[in-house]
Amino acid sequence: MSRARLLLFAGDGIGPEIMAEGARLLEALRSEGLDIEWEEELLGGASIDKHGVPLTDAALKKAGEADAVLMGAVGGAKWDTLPFDVRPERGLLGLRKGLDLFANLRPALCFAALSASSSLREEVVAGLDIVIVRELTGGVYFGEPRGIEDLGNGERRGVNTQVYTTSEIRRIGDVAFGLARGRGGRLCSVEKANVMESGVLWREEITKLGEERFSDIELSHMYADNCAMQLVKNPKQFDVIVTDNLFGDMLSDCAAMLTGSLGMLPSASLGETRPDGGRAAVYEPVHGSAPDIAGRGVANPLALLLSLAMLLRWSLGEDGRARRLEEAVERVLSAGLRTPDLVSGDGEGVRVVGTKEMGAAVLKEFSS
Ligand code: NAD
Repeated sequence: MSRARLLLFAGDGIGPEIMAEGARLLEALRSEGLDIEWEEELLGGASIDKHGVPLTDAALKKAGEADAVLMGAVGGAKWDTLPFDVRPERGLLGLRKGLDLFANLRPALCFAALSASSSLREEVVAGLDIVIVRELTGGVYFGEPRGIEDLGNGERRGVNTQVYTTSEIRRIGDVAFGLARGRGGRLCSVEKANVMESGVLWREEITKLGEERFSDIELSHMYADNCAMQLVKNPKQFDVIVTDNLFGDMLSDCAAMLTGSLGMLPSASLGETRPDGGRAAVYEPVHGSAPDIAGRGVANPLALLLSLAMLLRWSLGEDGRARRLEEAVERVLSAGLRTPDLVSGDGEGVRVVGTKEMGAAVLKEFSS
């Protein structure tokens, strides 16, 4: 790959604080020979303050041309009284829509040092490493017809439509099978084929795709309600899960919480593969802009750094460096360093540090 071009959106609240740690890692990566360059752009409230809109056309164009986008978070009380269509979160939606980011990847990785922070028993989550692939641009959140109609007899009717086409199912299946191939080689496809026609189509198309192109992957199917149960009963049975927009919304939040803390969760949203082989991709922490702690230097930068690891792996093909970064995080946690959000119980044996110190510790481990 020629020089990789990245675009950074720090955003609002704790966004700039955690992004500063990401930028330090990028500097280190460039110093050790990774051929990258990056530019920063405004998104969310920061963009509203300067340009009057949460995402400018110019910023969206740059995001589309970049090899990957790394994002902090957007939003805050300052902009909460604005109309919905110009709020900071609209910038995020504009980015997802403008780049047609149809695949949302959420790993749920339970670092050994944090396995006691989960609400589940330690042995259930210790060593957990699964990924949920959620279809992001179709299904019941977008299907037509939709709306609320007055039936004229004192009754109203609310309608949403669950709809998927063959190509929508196949393109998300393709991402999930590909991901499974680079991991444990197992994919579980989740729907409600027992009661929904869209689920029957989903199951048939995923099965067909598997037979045609991914016969090396062990494919299984599960109903969404059972999957929710299995995620809290025995989450380690899974490797990669692929599911639709609605079920993915719920199951990925459920899986996320298995790992204990919001400050630890990265995500990736991917678009179609372009003719040049690249694809639009936005990497971001799952958490928001945490206005309650913004400016205090205590935000956990690890979700952002783990998002950067996903970027290295998925957009730059740098699996080795991605793994090194994840291992650096693991070692820092094992050594007892914690930002305040990661302290549970009596906090015995841990040292509480701020954003900068946590970022510096990961950088040191990464570079050693
Ligand atoms: P939030 O994720 O920002 O915060 C929830 C809680 O988790 C808060 O107590 C916060 O302090 C804590 N937290 C979150 N990230 C943390 C981190 N890295 N380190 C330590 N603690 C952390 O969710 P919220 O409070 O519901 O929303 C705040 C703002 O963020 C809102 O404006 C919302 O719209 C926006 N938001 C943005 C995104 C995004 O940019 N992708 C996602 C969710 C919410």
